[in-house]
Amino acid sequence: MIIKCPYCGPRDVIEFTYQGDATRQRPDPASTDQAAWNAYVYDRANPMGGHREFWLHSGGCRQHLVVTRDMATHVISSVGFARDAVASGKGGDRP
Ligand SMILES: [Zn+2]
Repeated sequence: MIIKCPYCGPRDVIEFTYQGDATRQRPDPASTDQAAWNAYVYDRANPMGGHREFWLHSGGCRQHLVVTRDMATHVISSVGFARDAVASGKGGDRP
């Protein structure tokens, strides 16, 4: 799989480290809702189709990225800096 880092260009996936689902939203830290915290920590979706994920370019520029990847075909439709996605509210929690 090739990931096109916005800073370094196309690189092999071996240079990257998967950091998780980029769509999860952490409950309010002051919340004592155990069901919400349990869901945040343990529940994971396994969606078919496009999915947003955090990746770290650990063997390159060390930037955190948000990659939209098809879970069935591994075709990557977009790659951007996580800082931009988090700042715009579209990236879920920080990696
Ligand atoms: Zn890079």
